[in-house]
Amino acid sequence: MSKSNTSHKLIYEEKKATKLFLWLFYIFYISFELIFFYIFPKLSGKGVISKPHEGLGLWIYLFIFGLLPPALYFLRKRNPYIIKYLYIYSFLLIDTVHNVLVYWGSDQSFSSGHIVEVVFVLFSPIFVNKRYFWTVSAGMVLKYVFIGVLLKDIQVLVPMVIYIILSAIAFVILVRFESYIRSVTKMNDELRRKEKLAVIGQMAAAIGHEIRNPLSSLKGFTQLQQERYPNTNDFYPIMIQEIDRINSIVNDLMTLGKPKNMKFAMANIEEVIAYTLSITQHQAERQGVTVETIMEGPLPPLECDGKQLKQVFINLIKNAIESMPDGGKVKVKVKVTESNKLYISIKDEGSGIDDETILNLGEPFNTTKNDGTGLGLMVTNQIINDHKGEFKIEKSQDKGTIVTVILPIIQDSH
Ligand code: ADP
Ligand code: MG
Repeated sequence: MSKSNTSHKLIYEEKKATKLFLWLFYIFYISFELIFFYIFPKLSGKGVISKPHEGLGLWIYLFIFGLLPPALYFLRKRNPYIIKYLYIYSFLLIDTVHNVLVYWGSDQSFSSGHIVEVVFVLFSPIFVNKRYFWTVSAGMVLKYVFIGVLLKDIQVLVPMVIYIILSAIAFVILVRFESYIRSVTKMNDELRRKEKLAVIGQMAAAIGHEIRNPLSSLKGFTQLQQERYPNTNDFYPIMIQEIDRINSIVNDLMTLGKPKNMKFAMANIEEVIAYTLSITQHQAERQGVTVETIMEGPLPPLECDGKQLKQVFINLIKNAIESMPDGGKVKVKVKVTESNKLYISIKDEGSGIDDETILNLGEPFNTTKNDGTGLGLMVTNQIINDHKGEFKIEKSQDKGTIVTVILPIIQDSH
């Protein structure tokens, strides 16, 4: 419903622009014809000059006003988009024919041009359509080129230069319109996303909170059972593992809920990574994935919320492992950049990530996995933003995906 709604609005906008154009076109056309061919000659005492009676003669009025019925028809028919093209093409055709008929084989030098040409060019940005703009500008200039070549008259240079200048002005206006519209649209999208997230976040945090308590007693009792019946414990590790999984999903969901209170303290990145690897080790082994870590140089302690950062690297390394169901290698590299920030990259040899997933990175529930939640990257992104860091995910040159995280070593907010 919302889609057809927006397209209705767009059609409505186009109709408004078209109506405005039609009014301008005819008002300028009639005024110009009246003043130039009837009023002005009368006032200057020359009588009616003969121009409109040459060439196509008064037929030209029939053609110009004959465009009105089809235009009104298309306006009615919800197909206003072609009207502007109908006018520019018809006008170019009629005017060229008219000029050729008037000047071909005559010895008077070319002096023509109509105010509506200015209307065409200068008002072309009202349709916010680049194709139409180029049609009008190129059409107008080419018309004069054609006439100039045909009549071997260099007088056409004057209107040509004028229309090139006017086109440049119109182009600037058009580009400004488009850029403005783009930012407004983007802003709206962002706002909508934020609202959506806020609602999801509050709901998720509330539900997550309620789930966590029963979950922890469930885990406690399962562990108790396991200890009590050590001989039948085949299923207990799986039960505990699955409970942990639910727990981590709940944690992700709760991270979405704002407001978060970050607890910044000094921590070692080595420790954070080591913890992450110990958590993900089991899954890696099961899938035949080896994890290699390269720590370059002495790494300074980092001011961060350690718990949250662990969450980040668990998400990222899990994703890397999950991208290689048939085994492979994950390379984790940590170093200090020249600008004194911590650089961490995680590279896998998996299927790689497609552009659409990258584009929708901020969206919740955006997953390509059967049992995925599509929350991991989003949470990751949020936490890194809270640390005033940078996060990038891209397809690797050779194979797989590279994720880079850049974190400031000291949080400068306090
Ligand atoms: P989930 O892992 O639950 O699907 P995430 O937010 O962690 O949710 O990831 C979202 C999606 O991004 C994944 O479903 C996957 O398609 C893609 N993705 C993330 N990391 C990688 C990676 N290392 N390699 C390939 N695809 C990835
Ligand atoms: Mg994930």
